[in-house]
Amino acid sequence: MGKSEALFERAKKVLPGGVNSPVRAFNAVGGAPRFIASAEREFMTDADGKTYLDYVGSWGPMLLGHRDPAVEAAVLEAVRGGLSFGAATEREVEMAELMCRMVPGLEMVRMVNSGTEAVMSALRLARGATGRDKIIKFTGCYHGHSDGMLVKAGSGLLTNGTPDSSGVTAGAAADTLLAEYNDLASVRARFEAEPGAVAAVIVEPVAANMGVVPPEPGFLEGLRALCDEFGALLIFDEVITGFRLAPGGAVERFGVRPDLTVFGKIIGGGMPVGAYGGSRSLMEHVSPVGPVYQAGTLSGNPVAMAAGLAMLWQLEGNRALYEGIEAKAARLAAGLREAIPGVTVNQIGSLLCVFFTEGPVRTYADARRSDTARYGRYFRHMLDRGIYLAPAQFEAMFLGACHTDEDVDRTIEAAKAFRG
Ligand SMILES: *Cc1c(COP(=O)(O)O)cnc(C)c1O
Repeated sequence: MGKSEALFERAKKVLPGGVNSPVRAFNAVGGAPRFIASAEREFMTDADGKTYLDYVGSWGPMLLGHRDPAVEAAVLEAVRGGLSFGAATEREVEMAELMCRMVPGLEMVRMVNSGTEAVMSALRLARGATGRDKIIKFTGCYHGHSDGMLVKAGSGLLTNGTPDSSGVTAGAAADTLLAEYNDLASVRARFEAEPGAVAAVIVEPVAANMGVVPPEPGFLEGLRALCDEFGALLIFDEVITGFRLAPGGAVERFGVRPDLTVFGKIIGGGMPVGAYGGSRSLMEHVSPVGPVYQAGTLSGNPVAMAAGLAMLWQLEGNRALYEGIEAKAARLAAGLREAIPGVTVNQIGSLLCVFFTEGPVRTYADARRSDTARYGRYFRHMLDRGIYLAPAQFEAMFLGACHTDEDVDRTIEAAKAFRG
C-alpha cells in the first residue's frame, strides 16, 4: 500500500469520507485520493513522491502557480508581524482600494473568510436593501454551501448524485427559485410568478461548476435588464471568474455591471478569503453603518491580506499575462478536441472543460448528458501519466501562468493515448 492509500485509511476513521471537502474525494472517478505533500509552480507532489502536472490549482487560487515567490515572501513577512489582532489594519485598506481600482463599478468591499460566507452575506444584504425575500439562482450553478443555495446545486453535490442536501429546511429552500442558465425566458417566468418578491438574481457569469459553460451573447445583458424591470439586484458570483477572466473579472470581460459582486479563491492567493462588494450606497446597508448585520473574527486577516495583495499587484493591468494563459488554454482545448473522439471542449479564458458528450454544451441539461463513467476512465488514464485533473466531470480545468507549451503538448499526447 502506498502512503496516500495508508493516509486515506487513517483519514476515513477521523474525517467523513477521509476528506475535508467532498470534491477532494475520488468517489466520482474511483480509487483513493492522492494526499499532496508539496507543490511548486504547475506541479504537485504526493505523499509517495509522485509528481503531477496540476490542472486543479487549488480550484482556482493558483493563477500564478504554486509557491509564487512574491506571494510567499509577503506571507512570511506578514507572519512575522503577528497572525491576527481583531483590530483594523492597513493591509485591509490597501486590499479594498486595489480591488475597487481593478473591478469596474466596485466602490466598497467587505472581506470575509470564504466564498460561501461571501455569498451568504451578499444575499442577506440584497434582502436587507430591497426588503424582499426570494432569490433566483440557476440550476447547476454553485454558490457555496449556505442553506438557501443548496437547492439543486452543482459541483460536488451534482457529482455525488444528491440534488439537494439533507438538513436544509423547507423554509430556506422555498426562498430560492430555480431558473435555467442561458435561458432568459426561465428567469422571466420566475419573476412573473412572484412579482415584487425577488430580492436578487445570483449567477456565475461563466458557469464553472457544471463543467464550464460560458454565457451566450445577450444572456448577462438580459439578466441586467430583467433585474431592472422587476426592481431586483443582480449579483455576480465571481468566486472563480474574478481576477481570472481579466484583471477586472467577468464584469470587465462582458461589460455588464452587477449590483453586487462576490469574490473568493484568487483574492486569497491560497489563503482562506472571500469578499463581497458593490456601490457605496448598497454597501452602506452593512453593519456598523447600516442595519444588515455581518461580522467575522478573522475577516481581513493580515496574512490572508498580504497573500491577496501580492497576488493582485501582479495581475493589475497585466494584459500580457492573461493573453498568454488564454492562448495556451485555447491551444489545449483545440488539441483535446482532436485527441479524444466524441467530446465537447468548452473554453473561455483560462477555464476549460472536456465534456464526454457530443456538443454543443450550452445549458446544464446539455452538461448532464456527459458520460461520467467515461470521464472517470479518462481521469485515471491521465493520473497514471502524471496529469492531475479535477476528480469529477462537472468541474473546470484551471490553467495558470506557470503552464508551459510543453505542458500543453504533454497533456494532448497523453489524451491521444486514451482509448476508453
Ligand atoms: C468555490 C465557489 C464558492 C464557494 O467558495 P468557498 O471558498 O469554497 O466557500 C462559491 N461560488 C463559486 C462560483 C465557487 O466556485
